[in-house]
Amino acid sequence: MAIVESLEATNGRRRYGVRSPATLEPIGEFECATAADVCAAVERARVAQAAWARLSFDERAAYLYRLLAQFVERQDEVIDAVIAETGKPRAEAISMEVYAPCDAIAYYAKHAGRILRTRRRRLHGVMRLMKTLRIVYQPLGVVGLITPWNGPVALTAVPLAQALMAGNAVVHKPSEVTPLSALVVKRFTEAAGFPPDLYQVVQGDGETGAALIDAGVDKIAFTGSVATGRKVAEACGRRLIRCTLELGGKDAMIVCPDADLDRAAAGALLGSCMNTGHYCCGTERIYVTEPVYDAFVAKVVAGARALRQSDRGEFDVGAVFWDRQLDVIEAHMADARAKGAEVLVGGRRNPDLKGLYYEPTVVTNVGHDMDLMRKETFGPIVAITKVRDEEEAIRLANDSEYGLNGTVWTADRARGLALAARLQTGGVCVNDMTITYGLPEAPFGGRKLSGLGQVNGPEGLRSYCHAQPISADRRGRGKIQGGYPYTRKEEDGMQKFIRFLWGTRLGRWLS
Ligand code: NAD
Repeated sequence: MAIVESLEATNGRRRYGVRSPATLEPIGEFECATAADVCAAVERARVAQAAWARLSFDERAAYLYRLLAQFVERQDEVIDAVIAETGKPRAEAISMEVYAPCDAIAYYAKHAGRILRTRRRRLHGVMRLMKTLRIVYQPLGVVGLITPWNGPVALTAVPLAQALMAGNAVVHKPSEVTPLSALVVKRFTEAAGFPPDLYQVVQGDGETGAALIDAGVDKIAFTGSVATGRKVAEACGRRLIRCTLELGGKDAMIVCPDADLDRAAAGALLGSCMNTGHYCCGTERIYVTEPVYDAFVAKVVAGARALRQSDRGEFDVGAVFWDRQLDVIEAHMADARAKGAEVLVGGRRNPDLKGLYYEPTVVTNVGHDMDLMRKETFGPIVAITKVRDEEEAIRLANDSEYGLNGTVWTADRARGLALAARLQTGGVCVNDMTITYGLPEAPFGGRKLSGLGQVNGPEGLRSYCHAQPISADRRGRGKIQGGYPYTRKEEDGMQKFIRFLWGTRLGRWLS
Protein backbone atom coordinates (compact mmCIF):
# COMPACT_ATOMS: atom_id res chain seq x y z
CA MET A 1 0.00 0.00 0.00
CA ALA A 2 1.31 3.45 -0.96
CA ILE A 3 2.19 5.75 1.95
CA VAL A 4 1.71 8.83 -0.24
CA GLU A 5 -1.29 8.75 -2.58
CA SER A 6 -2.48 11.33 -5.10
CA LEU A 7 -6.03 12.55 -4.51
CA GLU A 8 -8.39 14.55 -6.65
CA ALA A 9 -7.32 18.19 -6.99
CA THR A 10 -9.37 20.96 -5.40
CA ASN A 11 -9.17 24.74 -5.96
CA GLY A 12 -6.68 24.07 -8.75
CA ARG A 13 -4.28 22.50 -6.27
CA ARG A 14 -3.02 18.93 -6.40
CA ARG A 15 -3.74 16.99 -3.21
CA TYR A 16 -2.28 13.92 -1.57
CA GLY A 17 -3.06 11.66 1.35
CA VAL A 18 -0.46 10.26 3.72
CA ARG A 19 -0.61 7.04 5.73
CA SER A 20 1.30 5.86 8.77
CA PRO A 21 3.87 3.25 7.71
CA ALA A 22 3.31 1.50 11.06
CA THR A 23 -0.48 1.09 10.96
CA LEU A 24 -1.16 1.92 7.30
CA GLU A 25 -4.01 4.13 8.59
CA PRO A 26 -4.46 7.59 7.00
CA ILE A 27 -2.88 10.43 8.98
CA GLY A 28 -3.95 13.39 6.86
CA GLU A 29 -4.65 14.98 3.50
CA PHE A 30 -2.57 17.86 2.18
CA GLU A 31 -2.65 20.36 -0.64
CA CYS A 32 0.40 20.93 -2.82
CA ALA A 33 1.29 24.60 -2.94
CA THR A 34 1.20 25.88 -6.53
CA ALA A 35 4.07 27.76 -8.15
CA ALA A 36 2.09 30.97 -7.54
CA ASP A 37 1.64 30.07 -3.84
CA VAL A 38 5.37 29.47 -3.52
CA CYS A 39 6.27 32.77 -5.22
CA ALA A 40 3.88 34.64 -2.94
CA ALA A 41 5.45 32.97 0.11
CA VAL A 42 8.92 34.03 -1.03
CA GLU A 43 7.76 37.61 -1.58
CA ARG A 44 6.26 37.74 1.93
CA ALA A 45 9.43 36.22 3.33
CA ARG A 46 11.49 38.93 1.65
CA VAL A 47 9.52 41.64 3.47
CA ALA A 48 9.87 39.82 6.79
CA GLN A 49 13.59 39.32 6.22
CA ALA A 50 14.31 43.01 5.74
CA ALA A 51 13.10 43.76 9.27
CA TRP A 52 14.68 40.61 10.74
CA ALA A 53 18.11 41.45 9.32
CA ARG A 54 18.06 44.75 11.20
CA LEU A 55 17.83 42.97 14.56
CA SER A 56 20.98 42.40 16.58
CA PHE A 57 22.25 38.86 17.19
CA ASP A 58 21.00 39.09 20.78
CA GLU A 59 17.53 40.05 19.59
CA ARG A 60 17.44 37.16 17.10
CA ALA A 61 18.74 34.83 19.80
CA ALA A 62 15.88 35.89 22.11
CA TYR A 63 13.40 34.54 19.52
CA LEU A 64 15.37 31.31 19.23
CA TYR A 65 15.40 30.83 22.99
CA ARG A 66 11.61 31.18 22.95
CA LEU A 67 11.48 28.55 20.19
CA LEU A 68 13.72 26.34 22.32
CA ALA A 69 11.28 26.71 25.23
CA GLN A 70 8.47 25.45 22.95
CA PHE A 71 10.53 22.38 22.06
CA VAL A 72 11.28 21.70 25.71
CA GLU A 73 7.72 22.22 26.96
CA ARG A 74 5.89 20.59 24.07
CA GLN A 75 8.16 17.61 23.40
CA ASP A 76 5.22 15.25 23.13
CA GLU A 77 3.78 17.14 20.16
CA VAL A 78 7.02 16.51 18.27
CA ILE A 79 7.22 12.89 19.37
CA ASP A 80 3.59 12.14 18.48
CA ALA A 81 3.82 13.73 15.02
CA VAL A 82 7.08 11.99 14.17
CA ILE A 83 5.88 8.59 15.38
CA ALA A 84 2.60 8.98 13.47
CA GLU A 85 4.35 9.64 10.19
CA THR A 86 7.42 7.41 10.55
CA GLY A 87 6.69 4.64 13.07
CA LYS A 88 10.11 5.17 14.66
CA PRO A 89 10.75 4.08 18.28
CA ARG A 90 9.99 6.71 20.91
CA ALA A 91 13.64 6.75 22.02
CA GLU A 92 14.71 7.73 18.49
CA ALA A 93 11.96 10.35 18.22
CA ILE A 94 13.30 11.89 21.43
CA SER A 95 17.03 11.70 20.63
CA MET A 96 16.87 12.70 16.96
CA GLU A 97 13.86 14.97 16.77
CA VAL A 98 13.82 16.70 20.17
CA TYR A 99 17.30 16.52 21.68
CA ALA A 100 19.19 17.34 18.46
CA PRO A 101 16.98 20.34 17.53
CA CYS A 102 17.17 21.70 21.12
CA ASP A 103 20.95 21.37 21.14
CA ALA A 104 21.33 23.07 17.75
CA ILE A 105 18.91 25.92 18.54
CA ALA A 106 20.68 26.59 21.86
CA TYR A 107 24.13 26.40 20.22
CA TYR A 108 23.43 28.79 17.36
CA ALA A 109 21.47 31.20 19.58
CA LYS A 110 24.48 31.38 21.88
CA HIS A 111 27.36 31.31 19.40
CA ALA A 112 26.17 32.79 16.10
CA GLY A 113 26.88 36.36 17.20
CA ARG A 114 30.51 35.47 17.89
CA ILE A 115 30.96 33.43 14.70
CA LEU A 116 29.33 36.04 12.45
CA ARG A 117 30.54 39.24 14.05
CA THR A 118 32.35 41.66 11.78
CA ARG A 119 36.04 40.86 11.87
CA ARG A 120 39.14 42.86 11.05
CA ARG A 121 41.62 40.90 8.98
CA ARG A 122 45.28 41.93 8.98
CA LEU A 123 46.63 42.68 5.54
CA HIS A 124 50.09 41.58 4.52
CA GLY A 125 52.99 43.41 2.91
CA VAL A 126 52.91 47.04 1.88
CA MET A 127 49.13 47.17 1.71
CA ARG A 128 49.11 46.80 5.48
CA LEU A 129 50.68 50.23 5.74
CA MET A 130 47.88 51.86 3.76
CA LYS A 131 44.65 49.89 4.09
CA THR A 132 42.41 48.12 6.58
CA LEU A 133 40.12 45.18 5.84
CA ARG A 134 36.92 44.11 7.55
CA ILE A 135 34.79 41.06 6.77
CA VAL A 136 31.06 41.64 7.22
CA TYR A 137 28.77 38.58 7.22
CA GLN A 138 25.71 39.77 5.35
CA PRO A 139 22.53 37.66 5.31
CA LEU A 140 21.71 36.25 1.89
CA GLY A 141 17.98 37.05 2.03
CA VAL A 142 15.44 34.26 1.61
CA VAL A 143 16.63 30.67 1.99
CA GLY A 144 14.64 27.83 0.39
CA LEU A 145 14.88 24.77 2.62
CA ILE A 146 14.05 21.39 1.05
CA THR A 147 14.10 18.41 3.39
CA PRO A 148 13.72 14.60 3.30
CA TRP A 149 11.61 12.25 5.43
CA ASN A 150 14.17 10.45 7.56
CA GLY A 151 14.76 13.11 10.23
CA PRO A 152 11.84 15.43 9.57
CA VAL A 153 12.14 17.71 12.61
CA ALA A 154 15.91 17.62 13.09
CA LEU A 155 16.64 18.31 9.43
CA THR A 156 14.23 21.26 9.63
CA ALA A 157 15.19 22.82 12.95
CA VAL A 158 18.97 22.53 12.61
CA PRO A 159 19.27 24.48 9.31
CA LEU A 160 16.43 26.79 10.35
CA ALA A 161 18.31 27.91 13.46
CA GLN A 162 21.39 28.68 11.35
CA ALA A 163 19.58 30.48 8.54
CA LEU A 164 17.63 32.63 11.00
CA MET A 165 20.57 33.53 13.23
CA ALA A 166 22.43 34.57 10.07
CA GLY A 167 19.60 37.05 9.37
CA ASN A 168 17.65 35.22 6.66
CA ALA A 169 14.00 34.27 6.24
CA VAL A 170 13.15 30.66 5.35
CA VAL A 171 10.56 29.09 3.05
CA HIS A 172 10.47 25.36 3.72
CA LYS A 173 9.30 22.52 1.49
CA PRO A 174 9.20 19.39 3.66
CA SER A 175 9.02 15.86 2.28
CA GLU A 176 5.58 14.76 1.13
CA VAL A 177 6.12 11.64 3.29
CA THR A 178 6.41 13.64 6.53
CA PRO A 179 4.22 16.76 6.30
CA LEU A 180 3.19 16.83 9.98
CA SER A 181 6.62 17.56 11.45
CA ALA A 182 7.07 20.86 9.63
CA LEU A 183 3.63 21.95 10.87
CA VAL A 184 4.72 21.30 14.46
CA VAL A 185 7.83 23.46 13.96
CA LYS A 186 5.65 26.14 12.36
CA ARG A 187 3.27 26.08 15.36
CA PHE A 188 6.22 26.42 17.71
CA THR A 189 7.58 29.47 15.84
CA GLU A 190 4.12 31.06 16.02
CA ALA A 191 3.83 30.39 19.74
CA ALA A 192 7.34 31.82 20.17
CA GLY A 193 6.10 35.08 18.60
CA PHE A 194 8.19 34.91 15.42
CA PRO A 195 7.37 37.54 12.77
CA PRO A 196 4.59 35.86 10.73
CA ASP A 197 6.35 35.27 7.42
CA LEU A 198 9.86 34.68 8.66
CA TYR A 199 9.44 30.89 8.54
CA GLN A 200 6.84 29.56 6.13
CA VAL A 201 5.96 26.02 5.12
CA VAL A 202 4.87 25.12 1.59
CA GLN A 203 3.67 21.53 1.45
CA GLY A 204 4.00 19.39 -1.65
CA ASP A 205 6.16 17.02 -3.64
CA GLY A 206 9.07 17.34 -6.06
CA GLU A 207 7.17 19.72 -8.29
CA THR A 208 6.67 22.08 -5.33
CA GLY A 209 10.36 21.78 -4.46
CA ALA A 210 11.29 22.66 -8.05
CA ALA A 211 8.92 25.66 -7.89
CA LEU A 212 10.67 26.89 -4.75
CA ILE A 213 14.03 26.93 -6.53
CA ASP A 214 12.46 29.02 -9.30
CA ALA A 215 10.61 31.36 -6.94
CA GLY A 216 13.40 33.88 -6.49
CA VAL A 217 15.12 32.57 -3.34
CA ASP A 218 18.74 33.48 -2.67
CA LYS A 219 19.94 30.04 -1.61
CA ILE A 220 18.71 26.47 -1.51
CA ALA A 221 19.64 24.31 1.46
CA PHE A 222 18.80 20.83 0.19
CA THR A 223 18.94 17.50 1.96
CA GLY A 224 17.92 14.38 0.05
CA SER A 225 18.97 11.83 -2.51
CA VAL A 226 21.78 12.07 -5.07
CA ALA A 227 19.31 11.85 -7.96
CA THR A 228 17.27 14.82 -6.73
CA GLY A 229 20.42 16.64 -5.63
CA ARG A 230 21.62 16.67 -9.24
CA LYS A 231 18.32 18.21 -10.39
CA VAL A 232 18.51 20.79 -7.62
CA ALA A 233 22.10 21.67 -8.54
CA GLU A 234 21.13 22.05 -12.21
CA ALA A 235 18.17 24.27 -11.38
CA CYS A 236 20.27 26.40 -9.00
CA GLY A 237 22.96 26.58 -11.68
CA ARG A 238 20.45 27.91 -14.21
CA ARG A 239 19.40 30.59 -11.70
CA LEU A 240 22.96 31.12 -10.44
CA ILE A 241 21.91 30.82 -6.84
CA ARG A 242 23.98 29.05 -4.25
CA CYS A 243 23.06 25.74 -2.79
CA THR A 244 24.29 23.24 -0.28
CA LEU A 245 23.54 19.62 -1.11
CA GLU A 246 23.47 17.07 1.70
CA LEU A 247 23.03 13.78 -0.12
CA GLY A 248 23.12 10.05 0.34
CA GLY A 249 25.90 7.87 1.69
CA LYS A 250 27.29 4.36 1.85
CA ASP A 251 29.32 4.65 5.02
CA ALA A 252 31.98 2.10 5.84
CA MET A 253 32.94 0.76 9.26
CA ILE A 254 36.44 -0.64 9.77
CA VAL A 255 37.06 -3.08 12.61
CA CYS A 256 40.75 -3.45 13.48
CA PRO A 257 42.20 -6.57 15.15
CA ASP A 258 42.59 -4.79 18.51
CA ALA A 259 39.04 -3.34 18.59
CA ASP A 260 36.81 -3.73 21.63
CA LEU A 261 34.51 -6.24 19.94
CA ASP A 262 31.53 -5.80 22.26
CA ARG A 263 31.56 -2.08 21.64
CA ALA A 264 32.13 -2.51 17.91
CA ALA A 265 29.30 -5.05 17.56
CA ALA A 266 26.93 -2.77 19.45
CA GLY A 267 28.05 0.11 17.24
CA ALA A 268 27.48 -1.94 14.10
CA LEU A 269 23.93 -2.78 15.15
CA LEU A 270 23.04 0.77 16.14
CA GLY A 271 24.85 2.30 13.17
CA SER A 272 23.03 0.01 10.73
CA CYS A 273 19.58 -0.30 12.30
CA MET A 274 18.98 3.05 14.04
CA ASN A 275 16.09 4.93 12.46
CA THR A 276 15.39 1.66 10.57
CA GLY A 277 18.65 2.29 8.71
CA HIS A 278 17.21 5.54 7.30
CA TYR A 279 20.23 7.48 8.46
CA CYS A 280 22.34 9.26 5.87
CA CYS A 281 25.44 8.37 7.91
CA GLY A 282 24.18 4.89 8.65
CA THR A 283 26.68 2.04 8.63
CA GLU A 284 26.09 0.33 5.28
CA ARG A 285 29.34 -1.64 4.81
CA ILE A 286 31.40 -3.32 7.52
CA TYR A 287 34.99 -4.42 6.87
CA VAL A 288 36.29 -6.68 9.64
CA THR A 289 39.92 -7.76 9.81
CA GLU A 290 40.49 -11.51 9.63
CA PRO A 291 41.67 -12.26 13.21
CA VAL A 292 38.47 -10.92 14.80
CA TYR A 293 35.97 -11.65 12.02
CA ASP A 294 34.31 -14.77 13.50
CA ALA A 295 34.03 -13.34 17.00
CA PHE A 296 32.64 -10.06 15.68
CA VAL A 297 30.03 -11.76 13.49
CA ALA A 298 28.94 -13.98 16.40
CA LYS A 299 28.40 -10.94 18.62
CA VAL A 300 26.48 -9.05 15.93
CA VAL A 301 24.25 -12.06 15.24
CA ALA A 302 23.44 -12.45 18.93
CA GLY A 303 22.71 -8.73 19.22
CA ALA A 304 20.51 -8.69 16.12
CA ARG A 305 18.45 -11.64 17.35
CA ALA A 306 17.75 -9.72 20.55
CA LEU A 307 16.41 -6.61 18.76
CA ARG A 308 12.69 -6.05 19.25
CA GLN A 309 10.59 -4.85 16.33
CA SER A 310 7.04 -3.70 16.92
CA ASP A 311 4.41 -1.12 16.12
CA ARG A 312 3.63 -0.38 19.76
CA GLY A 313 5.09 -0.32 23.28
CA GLU A 314 8.79 -0.63 23.91
CA PHE A 315 10.81 -1.72 20.89
CA ASP A 316 14.15 -1.12 19.17
CA VAL A 317 13.56 -1.11 15.42
CA GLY A 318 10.56 0.58 13.84
CA ALA A 319 8.87 0.67 10.47
CA VAL A 320 10.36 1.41 7.06
CA PHE A 321 9.05 4.95 6.59
CA TRP A 322 8.11 4.72 2.91
CA ASP A 323 7.03 1.88 0.63
CA ARG A 324 9.45 3.16 -2.03
CA GLN A 325 12.37 2.56 0.34
CA LEU A 326 11.07 -0.91 1.16
CA ASP A 327 11.25 -1.69 -2.56
CA VAL A 328 14.92 -0.59 -2.63
CA ILE A 329 15.80 -2.67 0.45
CA GLU A 330 14.11 -5.78 -0.97
CA ALA A 331 15.77 -5.31 -4.38
CA HIS A 332 19.25 -4.94 -2.83
CA MET A 333 18.74 -8.02 -0.67
CA ALA A 334 17.47 -10.07 -3.62
CA ASP A 335 20.50 -9.04 -5.69
CA ALA A 336 22.87 -9.90 -2.81
CA ARG A 337 21.27 -13.32 -2.30
CA ALA A 338 21.45 -14.07 -6.03
CA LYS A 339 25.17 -13.27 -5.96
CA GLY A 340 25.93 -15.54 -3.01
CA ALA A 341 25.42 -13.46 0.15
CA GLU A 342 24.59 -15.39 3.29
CA VAL A 343 21.69 -14.13 5.43
CA LEU A 344 22.33 -14.95 9.09
CA VAL A 345 19.43 -13.03 10.65
CA GLY A 346 16.24 -11.54 9.18
CA GLY A 347 16.33 -10.85 5.47
CA ARG A 348 12.58 -10.49 4.97
CA ARG A 349 9.54 -8.38 5.76
CA ASN A 350 8.28 -9.00 9.27
CA PRO A 351 5.32 -11.39 8.77
CA ASP A 352 3.84 -10.60 12.21
CA LEU A 353 3.28 -6.89 11.60
CA LYS A 354 0.69 -5.24 9.38
CA GLY A 355 2.72 -2.16 8.49
CA LEU A 356 5.95 -1.69 6.51
CA TYR A 357 8.45 -3.63 8.58
CA TYR A 358 11.70 -5.19 7.41
CA GLU A 359 13.42 -7.39 9.97
CA PRO A 360 16.80 -6.31 11.36
CA THR A 361 19.12 -8.26 9.09
CA VAL A 362 22.69 -9.57 9.29
CA VAL A 363 24.26 -10.57 6.01
CA THR A 364 27.78 -11.84 5.26
CA ASN A 365 29.70 -13.01 2.18
CA VAL A 366 28.96 -9.68 0.57
CA GLY A 367 31.12 -8.09 -2.13
CA HIS A 368 31.47 -4.99 -4.24
CA ASP A 369 29.69 -6.70 -7.15
CA MET A 370 26.45 -6.34 -5.16
CA ASP A 371 24.11 -3.35 -5.01
CA LEU A 372 24.09 -3.88 -1.23
CA MET A 373 27.73 -2.75 -1.13
CA ARG A 374 27.63 -0.08 -3.84
CA LYS A 375 24.27 1.72 -3.71
CA GLU A 376 22.57 3.35 -0.74
CA THR A 377 20.24 0.76 0.81
CA PHE A 378 18.89 2.89 3.68
CA GLY A 379 17.48 -0.09 5.57
CA PRO A 380 18.15 -2.07 8.77
CA ILE A 381 20.85 -4.21 7.18
CA VAL A 382 24.16 -5.12 8.83
CA ALA A 383 26.36 -6.12 5.86
CA ILE A 384 29.69 -7.60 6.95
CA THR A 385 32.71 -8.68 4.95
CA LYS A 386 36.12 -10.10 5.92
CA VAL A 387 39.32 -8.27 4.99
CA ARG A 388 42.98 -9.26 5.36
CA ASP A 389 44.07 -6.14 7.22
CA GLU A 390 43.43 -2.42 7.65
CA GLU A 391 45.07 -1.62 4.32
CA GLU A 392 42.51 -3.69 2.45
CA ALA A 393 39.75 -2.20 4.58
CA ILE A 394 40.80 1.35 3.68
CA ARG A 395 41.06 0.46 0.00
CA LEU A 396 37.56 -1.07 -0.06
CA ALA A 397 36.06 1.69 2.09
CA ASN A 398 37.33 4.27 -0.39
CA ASP A 399 36.15 2.18 -3.35
CA SER A 400 32.77 3.92 -3.41
CA GLU A 401 31.04 6.68 -5.32
CA TYR A 402 29.86 8.02 -1.98
CA GLY A 403 31.87 9.75 0.72
CA LEU A 404 29.66 10.95 3.55
CA ASN A 405 31.12 9.56 6.77
CA GLY A 406 32.72 6.44 8.16
CA THR A 407 33.88 4.84 11.38
CA VAL A 408 37.09 3.18 12.60
CA TRP A 409 37.21 0.85 15.61
CA THR A 410 40.51 0.19 17.41
CA ALA A 411 41.99 0.23 20.91
CA ASP A 412 44.90 2.30 19.57
CA ARG A 413 43.68 5.89 19.45
CA ALA A 414 46.59 7.15 17.36
CA ARG A 415 46.09 4.40 14.80
CA GLY A 416 42.36 5.15 14.72
CA LEU A 417 42.98 8.83 14.03
CA ALA A 418 45.55 8.02 11.34
CA LEU A 419 43.24 5.55 9.56
CA ALA A 420 40.37 8.02 9.83
CA ALA A 421 42.37 10.67 8.00
CA ARG A 422 42.82 8.26 5.06
CA LEU A 423 39.08 7.87 4.45
CA GLN A 424 37.82 10.00 1.55
CA THR A 425 34.71 11.09 3.42
CA GLY A 426 33.13 14.23 4.81
CA GLY A 427 33.80 13.11 8.40
CA VAL A 428 34.88 10.11 10.45
CA CYS A 429 34.20 8.86 13.98
CA VAL A 430 36.59 6.66 15.93
CA ASN A 431 35.05 4.01 18.19
CA ASP A 432 31.51 5.32 17.82
CA MET A 433 28.76 5.33 15.26
CA THR A 434 28.60 8.53 13.23
CA ILE A 435 27.60 11.35 15.52
CA THR A 436 29.10 14.22 13.52
CA TYR A 437 25.74 15.80 12.61
CA GLY A 438 25.02 16.04 16.33
CA LEU A 439 28.20 18.04 17.02
CA PRO A 440 27.25 21.63 16.18
CA GLU A 441 30.92 22.67 16.12
CA ALA A 442 31.65 20.22 13.28
CA PRO A 443 31.20 21.23 9.64
CA PHE A 444 29.11 18.50 8.01
CA GLY A 445 29.03 17.63 4.33
CA GLY A 446 29.81 14.81 1.96
CA ARG A 447 32.53 14.25 -0.62
CA LYS A 448 32.12 12.60 -4.03
CA LEU A 449 28.41 11.96 -4.71
CA SER A 450 27.48 12.61 -1.08
CA GLY A 451 27.16 16.33 -1.46
CA LEU A 452 28.37 19.81 -2.15
CA GLY A 453 29.25 22.37 0.48
CA GLN A 454 28.99 22.02 4.22
CA VAL A 455 26.32 22.69 6.80
CA ASN A 456 26.65 23.17 10.58
CA GLY A 457 29.56 24.53 12.55
CA PRO A 458 31.12 27.93 11.84
CA GLU A 459 31.60 27.00 8.17
CA GLY A 460 27.97 25.96 7.73
CA LEU A 461 26.64 28.99 9.56
CA ARG A 462 28.74 31.30 7.39
CA SER A 463 27.37 29.59 4.28
CA TYR A 464 24.06 31.29 5.06
CA CYS A 465 25.85 34.62 4.59
CA HIS A 466 27.90 36.48 2.07
CA ALA A 467 31.34 37.28 3.49
CA GLN A 468 31.69 40.86 2.33
CA PRO A 469 35.21 42.33 2.47
CA ILE A 470 35.24 46.08 3.11
CA SER A 471 38.55 47.85 2.75
CA ALA A 472 39.30 51.44 3.75
CA ASP A 473 42.29 53.72 4.16
CA ARG A 474 44.30 53.71 7.31
CA ARG A 475 43.53 57.05 8.88
CA GLY A 476 45.55 59.82 7.20
CA ARG A 477 47.69 57.46 5.11
CA GLY A 478 45.47 56.57 2.18
CA LYS A 479 45.72 57.48 -1.43
CA ILE A 480 44.14 56.10 -4.57
CA GLN A 481 46.14 53.15 -5.87
CA GLY A 482 47.63 53.80 -9.32
CA GLY A 483 45.61 56.64 -10.78
CA TYR A 484 45.70 58.70 -13.97
CA PRO A 485 47.64 59.98 -15.80
CA TYR A 486 49.95 56.97 -16.36
CA THR A 487 53.54 58.16 -16.81
CA ARG A 488 56.78 56.48 -17.86
CA LYS A 489 58.29 57.61 -14.56
CA GLU A 490 55.64 55.81 -12.53
CA GLU A 491 55.95 52.65 -14.64
CA ASP A 492 59.73 52.56 -14.04
CA GLY A 493 59.18 53.17 -10.35
CA MET A 494 56.72 50.27 -10.18
CA GLN A 495 59.13 47.88 -11.89
CA LYS A 496 61.92 48.87 -9.49
CA PHE A 497 59.58 48.35 -6.57
CA ILE A 498 58.67 44.82 -7.81
CA ARG A 499 62.42 43.99 -8.14
CA PHE A 500 62.99 45.22 -4.60
CA LEU A 501 59.97 43.49 -3.04
CA TRP A 502 60.34 40.00 -4.46
CA GLY A 503 63.88 40.11 -5.85
CA THR A 504 65.77 40.99 -2.64
CA ARG A 505 65.91 39.28 0.74
CA LEU A 506 64.93 42.46 2.58
CA GLY A 507 61.98 43.01 0.23
CA ARG A 508 60.73 39.44 0.62
CA TRP A 509 60.97 39.78 4.39
CA LEU A 510 58.99 43.03 4.29
CA SER A 511 56.33 41.70 1.93
P1 NAD B 1 14.53 12.89 -2.20
O1 NAD B 1 15.69 13.41 -2.94
O2 NAD B 1 13.59 11.97 -2.87
O3 NAD B 1 13.62 14.11 -1.67
C1 NAD B 1 14.16 15.13 -0.85
C2 NAD B 1 13.26 16.36 -0.96
O4 NAD B 1 13.36 16.89 -2.28
C3 NAD B 1 11.78 16.09 -0.74
O5 NAD B 1 11.22 17.16 -0.03
C4 NAD B 1 11.22 16.03 -2.16
O6 NAD B 1 9.85 16.33 -2.25
C5 NAD B 1 12.06 17.10 -2.83
N1 NAD B 1 12.18 17.00 -4.29
C6 NAD B 1 11.99 15.92 -5.08
N2 NAD B 1 12.23 16.25 -6.38
C7 NAD B 1 12.60 17.55 -6.40
C8 NAD B 1 12.99 18.46 -7.42
N3 NAD B 1 13.05 18.10 -8.71
N4 NAD B 1 13.33 19.73 -7.07
C9 NAD B 1 13.29 20.12 -5.78
N5 NAD B 1 12.91 19.30 -4.75
C10 NAD B 1 12.57 18.03 -5.06
O7 NAD B 1 15.12 12.23 -0.88
P2 NAD B 1 14.32 11.46 0.24
O8 NAD B 1 13.96 10.11 -0.26
O9 NAD B 1 13.25 12.33 0.80
O10 NAD B 1 15.44 11.35 1.39
C11 NAD B 1 16.33 10.30 1.52
C12 NAD B 1 17.69 10.69 1.03
O11 NAD B 1 18.17 11.82 1.77
C13 NAD B 1 18.73 9.62 1.25
O12 NAD B 1 19.52 9.49 0.10
C14 NAD B 1 19.55 10.13 2.41
O13 NAD B 1 20.87 9.65 2.47
C15 NAD B 1 19.52 11.59 2.16
N6 NAD B 1 19.85 12.34 3.36
C16 NAD B 1 21.05 12.99 3.42
C17 NAD B 1 21.42 13.67 4.57
C18 NAD B 1 22.72 14.38 4.68
O14 NAD B 1 22.85 15.21 5.56
N7 NAD B 1 23.70 14.12 3.82
C19 NAD B 1 20.55 13.68 5.66
C20 NAD B 1 19.34 13.00 5.56
C21 NAD B 1 18.99 12.34 4.41
